[in-house]
Amino acid sequence: MIRSDRPNILFVMSDDHASHAMSCYGSRINRTPNLDRIADEGMRFDNCFCTNGICTPSRAAILTGTYNHVNGVTTLSTHMDNRLTTYPKLLREAGYQTAIFGKWHLGQGPAHEPAGFDDWCVLPGQGLYHSPVMIDPGGKRVHVGYVTDVITDMSLQWLRNRDRSRPFALMVHHKAPHREWEPDAAHAQMYEDEEIPEPETFDDDYRNRSAAPAAARMRMEDLQWKDLKADVPSGLSPAEERSWRYQRYIKDYLRVVAAVDDNVGRLLDYLDREGLAEDTLVIYTSDQGFFLGDHGWFDKRFMYEESLRMPFVARLPREVKAGTTCDEFVLNVDFAPLFLDLAGVAVPDEFQGRSFRPLLHGETPPDWQRSMYYRYWMHGDGNHNVYAHYGVRTHRHKLIHFYNDGCGQPGSGEERHPPEWELFDLQADRNELRSLYHDEAHAAVRRELTDELHRLQAAVGDERYPLDDG
Ligand code: CA
Repeated sequence: MIRSDRPNILFVMSDDHASHAMSCYGSRINRTPNLDRIADEGMRFDNCFCTNGICTPSRAAILTGTYNHVNGVTTLSTHMDNRLTTYPKLLREAGYQTAIFGKWHLGQGPAHEPAGFDDWCVLPGQGLYHSPVMIDPGGKRVHVGYVTDVITDMSLQWLRNRDRSRPFALMVHHKAPHREWEPDAAHAQMYEDEEIPEPETFDDDYRNRSAAPAAARMRMEDLQWKDLKADVPSGLSPAEERSWRYQRYIKDYLRVVAAVDDNVGRLLDYLDREGLAEDTLVIYTSDQGFFLGDHGWFDKRFMYEESLRMPFVARLPREVKAGTTCDEFVLNVDFAPLFLDLAGVAVPDEFQGRSFRPLLHGETPPDWQRSMYYRYWMHGDGNHNVYAHYGVRTHRHKLIHFYNDGCGQPGSGEERHPPEWELFDLQADRNELRSLYHDEAHAAVRRELTDELHRLQAAVGDERYPLDDG
């Protein structure tokens, strides 16, 4: 049955774009006028979180509406079985035209390539910024140009050629602003004569927490030549060198974000010109957040705020009041149920997320989630060395258990470390600089959160780490 009242869905997802590099989220370091248009004409979600802060697992959670212990995509080395039920498959069965262009990163070959799409063309693995090779059902070929433009051109071409008698669901998955942050010529000189402010926690000394943050190899000092694209000038003090590294890193990051912003503008302009804006849900999000020099880091993975938080702005004029915000919790596993709900498709029982369509109307269901479960499985990989952990976040607190064991997960290191806990009061300490786990004044909160963690873990069907003594 084809219903004419079903909205089109334009889902734009970038890679590693932290919300604190979007002006609609109050960025101190850049402007994103086109992304802001979506927020200004729709709703900005201020507490959207990923359930595992790394590319491949978050993408699987979005497509399948399930946590990673259920969909099996726990780390970068676990590829998604494309026989799993996903929202594009269900939308397609219900009469939507579906397509994905850009980053897939869930594996290649018959068992892992995109399924459930009328058309697709994706980057192999991480893909390249300049003239990338891309894979489509016919094979591989080079697409000349800058990756963000190429993906947008392909998306616009598909929209122009679509069957106008049916609604569409189009996924535009940008590679940018993923490492190694290579700008295009149009933005290469941006910020050239400016100093980008360093974040408040740039000089974090990692005291008053577990051993995990100090062990991570994501500091400015860990940026490589391919990231910096220049030799470190001689004669700098260690502090000056760190600042120099930050400027090199953050400017390129913001330049590639600027190209994403421009290209989102092209898509929005197309919808306006074609009279599609009213009936199209437009989403802009990213697969997780990123450290923009916060805690002295680049990259993501940790359950700390900067990487846990996903930007999420949504515009659907016929349902969503312009210029609104929502601070209820929304998770990456909730996206698929929302899309199915809007399309009038029943959400399968196996999906673990919940549609947040009422939130779009400014209504919070009385039993809406007040806490969320997170698990980062990829323990101590040879590169970033972030330890495995799981935790719970509420509106006020966060409890993290660093169980510090790869548990045999592909891509994890073999070395284990003694388990530790962290507890933060986000109201008193929004930068998460002082763990209160061993503070007796917080014993009751600690107990309550530990119980909530284990309750959520059981509710989603995950298992406690055997040595979890909470
Ligand atoms: Ca990512």
